[in-house]
Amino acid sequence: MATAIAIDGPAGAGKSTIARFAAKTLGFIYVDTGALYRAIGLSAQRRGYAGDDKASIIPMLNEIKVELAFNQAHEQIVLLDGEDVSGLIRTPEISMMASAVSAIPEVRAFLLDLQRDMAHRNNVIMDGRDIGTVVLPDAQIKIFLSASPECRARRRYDELIEKGMDVKYEDILSDVIARDYADSHRDIAPLKPADDAIMVDTSGEDLETSVNKLVNIMRSRL
Ligand code: C5P
Repeated sequence: MATAIAIDGPAGAGKSTIARFAAKTLGFIYVDTGALYRAIGLSAQRRGYAGDDKASIIPMLNEIKVELAFNQAHEQIVLLDGEDVSGLIRTPEISMMASAVSAIPEVRAFLLDLQRDMAHRNNVIMDGRDIGTVVLPDAQIKIFLSASPECRARRRYDELIEKGMDVKYEDILSDVIARDYADSHRDIAPLKPADDAIMVDTSGEDLETSVNKLVNIMRSRL
């Protein structure tokens, strides 16, 4: 049986960076489920749909293909209708689109099998919002990572500036707060820790400290 580690938490808590490092250390595959919602957000945006336009987005799901693949460096690539959109989905606009489309139950159902299938076929560290609660409720290890909104906004800001994007800290902070609210208040699969999740707060910690802490937790429980 494959082993699954679920990491959930709000945007910018460090999930993806920590999960990527930990996966490399443990020899697991890292699956970033946010990329799937982002691909659907991108598809809706390209068609000119608003993120909450269910009447257009639900039928769109029958016309698109979303796939996960891995490159030679074992990094995840997300394909939308065969096109590698991994870079295009990392913008603040697509973050908001992803958050909006993720509140549509049909979108979540559309992505469920793909995520479970990945976990059945591989040892995975999967990160998202509902991995421990909905996607992989039987995961051997569940971690809920959080950090203060200011700290998370600062990390996201630094990341985008490093990529050469022209963004303002205040805008990122208000996006973080808006996404947190939307993600934790939606009716379906809201962001919340599983009952058996290990709670970890990364506020004020540098990456290395958080990665080491998490890898130690995982090793001690595998
Ligand atoms: O993790 P990331 O910031 O890339 O996720 C983008 C958006 O996708 C989140 O704000 C959230 O609304 C949604 N999402 C989700 N469930 C997941 C992963 C992401 O609803 N498992």
